[in-house]
Amino acid sequence: MAENTSIEWTRSEDGTPGSTWNPVTGCTKISDGCTNCYAETFAERWRGTAGHHFENGFDITLRPDRLRLPMTWRTPRRVFLNSMSDLFHTDIPDHYIAQVFAVMALTPQHTYQVLTKRHGRMKSLLSRPAFWHLVAEQGREHFTGCQEDWLAVGAMLGGQPLPNLWLGVSVEDQTWADIRIPALLETPAAVRFLSCEPLLGPVDLKQAVITMGSERGHGLTTSFVHASGCCERGLHGIDWVIAGGESGPRARPMHPQWARHLRDQCEMAGVPFFFKQWGQHAPEDHGHDRGRVALIDAQGRTWTEGEAPAQQDTLRMRRVGKTQAGRLLDGRHHDAFPAR
Ligand code: SF4
Repeated sequence: MAENTSIEWTRSEDGTPGSTWNPVTGCTKISDGCTNCYAETFAERWRGTAGHHFENGFDITLRPDRLRLPMTWRTPRRVFLNSMSDLFHTDIPDHYIAQVFAVMALTPQHTYQVLTKRHGRMKSLLSRPAFWHLVAEQGREHFTGCQEDWLAVGAMLGGQPLPNLWLGVSVEDQTWADIRIPALLETPAAVRFLSCEPLLGPVDLKQAVITMGSERGHGLTTSFVHASGCCERGLHGIDWVIAGGESGPRARPMHPQWARHLRDQCEMAGVPFFFKQWGQHAPEDHGHDRGRVALIDAQGRTWTEGEAPAQQDTLRMRRVGKTQAGRLLDGRHHDAFPAR
């Protein structure tokens, strides 16, 4: 697989493209955001092709021959880990995840972006000292002969997060915001981010925290979106929010109001916001008059032209393709990154 990636949010601020690193490939669907998983579509195309990297399609496949790849990269870079899988999938053994973390600890020159929909395992693994002991043990066993820098692991054993890891969860709608964001907030990480892509419904970030507070009896009502990294409960905050619509042949449209609302919440809280793309569909009132019409209301209900009931918040989107749709939101790019 190519090292360089065109994923917009993995590039550096100066425009240098980042890299992908896939020590595991394959996954299974777990929530609505997975419905049109691009990685599955790509991998399944090759199922049964003898000798091909994806001969086993999208089955979970450990790739130990890829584990050392970041150690061969001399230039520091941003690295999107597991663009073709989910690192915290239940079929990936703890000891293998520990080896991946050992490599990240041993390559502090790189910055790793790990995004998951398996918030529960992420939280339970990374919160346990036993896991960091496993990282140290697996690292010594498998990566002797590398430049030994176990300082980061030592610090993690002492409760400090891995400094070169940005940890994120996928948030496609309010339901998953209320479930995944609290788990992320309770997981040690140097930088925490949300990937609201594909955005399939409105997301009120405050509501997720209220859910979190009431579940634990905190009565927390302040927004956890806080650039300084802490909110009133002593929990770390969210450092970055990415939003985007879905691309691909079966893409679902994103109501513009959902992206604007996320942007405005971030702006109010001083949190960097990155608008990745409209995806396959762009708003007709952005000057698009070609492409099939899809109508969408603010709740995410969709209709084709001619069958939509007249409603005030129903908008006309055009299926123009990802490139044509672009990534301008209200006439400008939103390209902010966390201040690290
Ligand atoms: S978790 Fe990610 S990689 Fe796995 S099926 Fe869902 S979208 Fe695809």
